[in-house]
Amino acid sequence: MQAIKELKEPKEYVCEECVKMGAHWVHLRTCQTCGVTLCCDDSRYKHMTKHFHRTGHPVIISAEPGEKWMWCYPDNLFAEYS
Ligand SMILES: [Zn+2]
Ligand SMILES: [Zn+2]
Repeated sequence: MQAIKELKEPKEYVCEECVKMGAHWVHLRTCQTCGVTLCCDDSRYKHMTKHFHRTGHPVIISAEPGEKWMWCYPDNLFAEYS
């Protein structure tokens, strides 16, 4: 996993793709490469996983308030931070 010095926080608590589609999401994640906020794998459209497959951006954090963890797709690595 690459070292992350500064976390990209969600700009808005919405999945940009779900908003465009008028869909609903369950939880939100923020990409640490480009800063986009998209929905998790519990959501119907799994936009963040699709984003990873499309872009290769490897690391996301939970965008849910109070949750402090990150996930690295290529490494399947879960890490909490404080
Ligand atoms: Zn979505
Ligand atoms: Zn990204």
